Parts: sequence; C-alpha cells; structure tokens
Amino acid sequence: MQKLTTPRAEESTRGCLVGKSAIVTGSTSGIGLGIARALAEAGMDVMFNGLGASDIDDIRAGIEREFGVATNYSGADMSEPDEICAMFDDAIAKFGKVDVLVNNAGIQHVEAIETFPPAKWEQIIAVNLSAAFHTIRAAVPGMKARGWGRIINVASAHALVASPFKSAYVAAKHGLIGLTKTVALETAEFGITVNAICPGYVLTPLVEKQIPETAKARMLTEDQVVRDVLLKAQPTRRFITVDEIGAVAVFLSTDGANSITGAALPVEGGWTAQ
Ligand code: NAD
Repeated sequence: MQKLTTPRAEESTRGCLVGKSAIVTGSTSGIGLGIARALAEAGMDVMFNGLGASDIDDIRAGIEREFGVATNYSGADMSEPDEICAMFDDAIAKFGKVDVLVNNAGIQHVEAIETFPPAKWEQIIAVNLSAAFHTIRAAVPGMKARGWGRIINVASAHALVASPFKSAYVAAKHGLIGLTKTVALETAEFGITVNAICPGYVLTPLVEKQIPETAKARMLTEDQVVRDVLLKAQPTRRFITVDEIGAVAVFLSTDGANSITGAALPVEGGWTAQ
C-alpha cells in the first residue's frame, strides 16, 4: 500500500503564516513575549509592545536573527486610546498590514472589595478590557478588506470562573469574553476569527507580584499561596508554560482553525473542569 506522506507539522504551519504580520500587546514580558516569539518562529513579522522594556532591542534583534522575520516596537500605553491608534499607524507603516492582533497586555491587583482602590479598578478595566475594544476597532477594517484576520484575546481562567479579591480583573476578563463573542459574530463572514485563550496560572512577573498580595489578603505564607491557592486550582498541579500558550496562539492563526471563532479556549490544566 502506498505510504501517505504529510509535510512536517511545523513546516506546514510556517508555510501558511510566512509573510503575515502581527501586533502582540504586552509582549515585552511573560505570556506576550512567549506568543510573539512563537508567531515569529512560525514566520510572522511582529510588532512588540509593552512598558518599561529596557532590553526589547536585544530581544528583537535575537528574534530577527533566529527566525528571519522583521520586528518593530511600540511603547504605546494600552490605557491611552490615542497611543493605541499611533501603534497601529506604526505597524502599518512598517509591515503594510496587521493580519493577527493579539490583545495580551494585562495587569492585576489583589485586594478585598471594601478597600479596593477605585483608581486600580479604572486602570485594570482600561488595560485588560477597553484596550481590546480600541485595538479591535483599528484592526477590523483592514482585515475585512483583505478577507482574512485573526484576533486573539488573552483572557484567563478568571474569564470563566471567579476567585475572591480580584474584582476588577475577573470583571474585565469576563467582559473580554463578551467582546470576543460579539466581534466574532460581526466578522464571521469576512474570513476573520476572534477567540480568547484562557490560561491558568503561568509563572510570570504578573503572578510573582500577586503572591505576596494574596498572602496578605488571605493571611497565608507565600509558599502556602503557591501550593494551596494557585496550584490547588489546577489539577495538573504545575504552572502552565508560556510556550504552551504560544503554541495555541499559533494554531489559532493557522487556516486549520478557520472554523473556530467566538471561543474561549481553556489552557488551565483542568481548572474549570472541576
Ligand atoms: P506580565 O506582567 O509578565 O506581562 C504583562 C505585559 O503587559 C508586559 O509586557 C507589560 O509591559 C504590559 N503592560 C502592562 N500594562 C501595560 C500598558 N498600560 N500598556 C502597554 N503594555 C502594558 O504578565 P503576564 O502574566 O504575561 O500576563 C499577560 C496576559 O496574560 C495578561 O492579560 C494576563 O491577565 C493574562 N494571564 C496571565 C496569567 C498568569 O498566570 N500569568 C493567567 C491568565 C491570564
């Protein structure tokens, strides 16, 4: 019998993404950097974004050398709509188009509702939710005109279930799922897919910062927070890796995911199966 041969998976993935370009917000660290790297490895040009990125030039140079793609960097603050528009103008000036938009920038604050600072609420809603509204508004016209686009919103397991002391974050992430579904319906006939990835705990600076905050809010030691709060939620009892999230973002960008839209994909070690 004739043996069926299929191209190696990574070659076929790269083939369909080479020459496409992406913006990944909040990609100077953690999950966003992992996604940006994975998209570049798949052959895409990438606009990096994030605050306080002293080493971004070295990161970009390394990625350009390793994967033979073009990169750019915007220091746009995702809580400022004018800066978001300027980031899009920069991306289009550099790459000519934005095929894949990854809304990843996010911040957290852990505190009981009675003392939760109103300014923190406003800031978290702006960066974790409203920024995606502004980036999507900017991205959709070009995607519609070209008949192809991918919008990937990095939500959270906290977009599907709540935990105490994270009112603003949980509200913003639940809102992001609503935005994902709505834009998926509006763009479904234009070759555009809009999905959310819902990670469980990934050991990034965002999580490292909340360990002492959670210890204070719950009157626990930091070791107890990791074991009895964070990893207790995840049946796999280990942190998710940035590479695992990057692989899902690449898959969602391929034509193999053409029919996945409006989805909230859990990548959380079984957390929300319980
Ligand atoms: P991180 O702190 O490592 O990275 C956050 C990124 O966002 C950085 O690049 C930072 O510069 C950028 N950023 C923050 N505020 C910004 C602003 N105003 N404008 C532009 N960029 C800004 O955090 P992370 O853990 O990698 O988180 C990335 C995303 O993943 C967030 O949306 C977060 O809610 C989500 N998430 C993280 C986890 C986790 O366990 N780490 C779990 C679920 C979801």
